[in-house]
Amino acid sequence: MSLTEEIQKLKKEKDAVILAHYYVPGEVQDIADYVGDSFYLSKIATELEHKVIVFAGVEFMGESAKILNPQKRVFMPDATADCPMAHMVDVKRIQEVREQYPDAAVVCYINSTAETKTYSDVCVTSSNAVKIVKNLPNHDIFFIPDQHLGSYVAEQVPEKHMILNDGYCPRHHVITAEQVKDAKAAHPDALFLAHPECPKEVLDIADYIGSTSGIIQYAAEQDAKEYIIGTVEGVFHELKKRCPGKQFYTVKQDQICVNMMKVTLEKVKKCLEEECNEVFISEELRRKAMAPLTRMLEMAK
Ligand code: SF4
Repeated sequence: MSLTEEIQKLKKEKDAVILAHYYVPGEVQDIADYVGDSFYLSKIATELEHKVIVFAGVEFMGESAKILNPQKRVFMPDATADCPMAHMVDVKRIQEVREQYPDAAVVCYINSTAETKTYSDVCVTSSNAVKIVKNLPNHDIFFIPDQHLGSYVAEQVPEKHMILNDGYCPRHHVITAEQVKDAKAAHPDALFLAHPECPKEVLDIADYIGSTSGIIQYAAEQDAKEYIIGTVEGVFHELKKRCPGKQFYTVKQDQICVNMMKVTLEKVKKCLEEECNEVFISEELRRKAMAPLTRMLEMAK
């Protein structure tokens, strides 16, 4: 029996569903029942009947799935796959901002720990952050943890007073405008599509800015044949499937998320078979972290 067949068999036996982010390796995306960005996956996790969720992604994704589905068992193929940006928030700083701006809303990118979510008023993803911030009644917004997504939202919603945190994604933060210009010089007919976790100087020269799903959809709908992609290379798998005949280039080498790349088919099989790396969250933490996630799902409708 092939590895894929073994996983399919285990999935049936355990009544499991596999969710995968666009950044994990292509063969893991292929075995998944649902593939998408953080918003799609967190939403779909609440709509499934299965008893078990295997989350092919990083820690905050498994945590969010467990927070929203306490009655289900959630497993991570690799327990060390974590997002560094999720930890780039200082609780003291949140308290300081709340003291300085008592009416501020703390808006928390879903790429954050369960504990950070408990200090937040609402969660957002890159696909709904602008809409949610626009619709919040608060004028002062403390956006955590990503400075770049925060600054992008601030530009889109100028009527709000945005206070930014200094977190960043180590993968997107290092993409420079200079590198984009070099890539454009090498591929003069290509459009440049960027994720809002990229720095402002990079977003300023993008032809399109959006979440991973947004980038994939945009490339699928355009007539252009070539694209330079300003996000993690994992999206190329879906881009190539959805856009046969089109060419995709990275801005630079090594545009990969090392943590997402830890998720392999072997580890998916192992966690199903041995029921290891289960996500556990105390009920108190879960209830507190669930409020901003539920508010996000409501406000994104
Ligand atoms: S790409 Fe960046 S933000 Fe996304 S999981 Fe990896 S480190 Fe975190």
